[in-house]
Amino acid sequence: MDPIREPILRVESLTKSYDGFLAVNDVSFDVAPGELKALIGPNGAGKSTCFNMLMGQLKPTRGSVTFDGRAITGLKPRQIWRLGVGRTFQITGTYQSMSVIENVQMALISHHRRIFSVAPYAWKLYRDEAMEFLATVGMEAQADRPCSILAYGDLKRLELAIALTHRPRLLLMDEPTAGMAPSARIELMQLTADIVREQGVSVLFTEHDMDVVFAHAHHIMVLNRGQLIADGDAAAVRANPQVQEVYLGGGTLFKEADHA
Ligand code: ADP
Ligand code: MG
Repeated sequence: MDPIREPILRVESLTKSYDGFLAVNDVSFDVAPGELKALIGPNGAGKSTCFNMLMGQLKPTRGSVTFDGRAITGLKPRQIWRLGVGRTFQITGTYQSMSVIENVQMALISHHRRIFSVAPYAWKLYRDEAMEFLATVGMEAQADRPCSILAYGDLKRLELAIALTHRPRLLLMDEPTAGMAPSARIELMQLTADIVREQGVSVLFTEHDMDVVFAHAHHIMVLNRGQLIADGDAAAVRANPQVQEVYLGGGTLFKEADHA
């Protein structure tokens, strides 16, 4: 078997039932190494339920998840994260009082598993390494600013830097640009696409803004009422009659220009 073509993530027949209601219904897909893949679908389609099963927060009713050739179904979130599946966390209230670089240093200390032994010296540790992660997301100039005064878009970039400190091979991002202005959405996804290209990390993300999805995703999957109705490149997904039916009326899948 060609090792290059082995998927980093393989999802088979993933199903979540709530008292017979199938929030996620027999979903199967792969994510390739270095792939930026979008999971889209109307509100309530099952995207977050799907993500929560991949991250170990939610136990599937049926189905399996394989990461890098290893079955991860039923593992705890922490175990899955340790294996190299990262995700963007919301920065908590506690960390708001720290500076930008201190947040990244905290993540690095945790990554190197030194949290309990070195607390008094924490701020001397990993400063150079933290600065490299800030450079990756273009935030070196803001290293010593308190998080509490960051613009929302910058906070999102910091969250991305923090997620990268654990050197994930797959990054799961459920609505990473929620609450952001359109231009900031495009910027964050452009940055994510650059990181995918430069570091070879795979990213699976959900996103409402179709301009962002179609501009950046290598492949797009469409979920509707728990079922996957499309999985392909932008052209194939746009041409899919079932997808057109789901998005008809909403008008979010096609720009005005596409209809002209
Ligand atoms: P999306 O992220 O695509 O908007 P969700 O995964 O959040 O969709 O939800 C999918 C469906 O599952 C929705 O109809 C939602 O109401 C339902 N659902 C989600 N969580 C639960 C739960 N804990 N109990 C019952 N139904 C749920
Ligand atoms: Mg959701």
